Amino acid sequence: PAEPGSPYRVVLLGASGVGKTAFANIFAGAADSMDSDDCELCGDEMCEKEIEVDGEPATLTLLDTWDTDNEWAQEHCMQTGDAYLLLYSVTDRASFLRASELRITLRRFRPAQHTPIILVGNKCDLVRRREVSVSEGRACAAVFDCKFIETSAAMQHNIWEAFHGMVRQLRLRRDSK
Ligand code: GDP
Repeated sequence: PAEPGSPYRVVLLGASGVGKTAFANIFAGAADSMDSDDCELCGDEMCEKEIEVDGEPATLTLLDTWDTDNEWAQEHCMQTGDAYLLLYSVTDRASFLRASELRITLRRFRPAQHTPIILVGNKCDLVRRREVSVSEGRACAAVFDCKFIETSAAMQHNIWEAFHGMVRQLRLRRDSK
């Protein structure tokens, strides 16, 4: 978005079962514990809210519309985000491979643009079921030229760090224009 204050559209991508809904629920739930009517723009698939990052407000519209059989809707997702959280589960290697595929597809849809993307390894609380190591995740992010973070939606660990990191990247891009 050109003007500061207009919402950034952040899209959740990733295989089914990796934790996208859990992410969206944490995002939707947190700010309005005192005033739950405040989130008029929240539904099942999208939630818009203002968060504060580095002392400055930012409005994010979080879209959780990826899990659908509708190819058109998925293409729309790929084309309309300002930024992407690309999730996999550290307990599911197939979801890690899927994240790589999605990264490649995303590049095809957004070839020239420096769209912020964070590769997110979720479910890091499930230590004994881990199939993808931290270093593999980090290496994959390096190859794909995106940021990397491991999270646990179940423990609410690093979820806000991911959103804040996203806002910082969006601001860097905005400020360099
Ligand atoms: P989605 O299909 O990507 O939207 O995935 P969901 O958010 O529906 O999560 C799928 C399942 O994984 C649900 O049973 C969640 O409770 C569980 N889940 C999501 N995130 C985590 C996490 O960080 N740790 C653990 N242990 N379970 C999680």
